Amino acid sequence: MTHERLFGAAPEGHWSAPGRVNLIGEHTDYNDGLALPLALPHTTKAAVSRRADRRLRLFSGGFSGDLPGAGPVDLDLDALAPGAVTGWAAYPAGGVWALREAGHELGGLNISYESDVPVGAGLSSSAALEVVTATALNDIFGLDLTPVAVARTAARAENDFTGVPCGILDQMASACCTSGHVMRLDTRDLGRRQIPFAMALEGLRLLVIDTRVRHAHADGAYARRRVECEAGAAAPGAPALRDVAAEDLDDALARLPDDVLRRRVRPVVTENDRVARAVSLLDAGRARDIGPLLSAGHASLRDDFGVSCPELDLAVEVSVGAGALGARMTGGGFGGSALALVDAGAAEFTARAVRAAFDRAGHHPPRIFEAIPSSGAQRVPV
Ligand code: ADP
Ligand code: MG
Repeated sequence: MTHERLFGAAPEGHWSAPGRVNLIGEHTDYNDGLALPLALPHTTKAAVSRRADRRLRLFSGGFSGDLPGAGPVDLDLDALAPGAVTGWAAYPAGGVWALREAGHELGGLNISYESDVPVGAGLSSSAALEVVTATALNDIFGLDLTPVAVARTAARAENDFTGVPCGILDQMASACCTSGHVMRLDTRDLGRRQIPFAMALEGLRLLVIDTRVRHAHADGAYARRRVECEAGAAAPGAPALRDVAAEDLDDALARLPDDVLRRRVRPVVTENDRVARAVSLLDAGRARDIGPLLSAGHASLRDDFGVSCPELDLAVEVSVGAGALGARMTGGGFGGSALALVDAGAAEFTARAVRAAFDRAGHHPPRIFEAIPSSGAQRVPV
């Protein structure tokens, strides 16, 4: 349904924000650590028009449309508060709330969304929704926010409005990644560097394997990992796990009171080190050599951190067995997506092998596509 038919007003513009995959650097963002995301070509688009009253009217085509009876959501701009909005509308409403909390004057709005970012697949559809909202309002109301400020606003929406305790990786990736690059992100100071990722030139392809599995208790388990990581940093007296160097890991592990904490600290500390090593390899033009780092990261998340699941493990195992240079789960885990770095000529073969293995195991057919490093949030033509 078009914006005009829904709201009786033509949109003042269109904006888009992408989903993302994280090449490496998982569960590091809430430990002040490093990550290496890239933006996907899949985006959430927003069309926006201003209203004379103080209502916020939201519609998501192909999403709320799937929920029987869920027409446009109609909210009072002045009554937005954490916990006051439930369901999908909490993400965009949270973006509006966070901008007002930061002191920006906003008026009533109609916003209609369309998206081809897979939802709930660990590819950050929630961040795309928040970031596109903040990006559009930044332009419309002339707020003069940088992409980093947009990401901070979007993260505040997710943490404080919807109550999801995620780190800031997803929002930073959606707001700040650039086409043709992976972004080295330091989540401590939000410093970033765009690193060319010319896979085609190097004869490589990056496959995303969406297992279409989503575990119901993921949020609680994620929150527990955060608490355990904080405890794991506190024992050796570090401000965050980021501050434990890989060469001091054994020392830090020896100071921990139990095995659960050791199994949380080891993956984070080694993962930060893997990001640093992946960056060095990419800087040296050796993208194909990062494969073993990806696979080592997966083993660590599976065996120690405990955030994988049988479908992710199968996707990784079969990809590597079919000749992938490396593969790992990407995103928070407990379902969602894996990625596999493959020689361009082996992409079809690898995808076929994964599909066949899922079929044999009785799993839902995975959705497999190529990750092409794309642009971050921006205004787009109609
Ligand atoms: P992910 O970010 O990995 O896709 P999340 O659980 O963080 O998974 O976010 C998924 C939720 O975000 C959906 O359940 C829905 O509430 C909301 N969402 C994402 N994209 C859209 C969209 N295009 N329209 C409406 N809601 C969306
Ligand atoms: Mg999300």
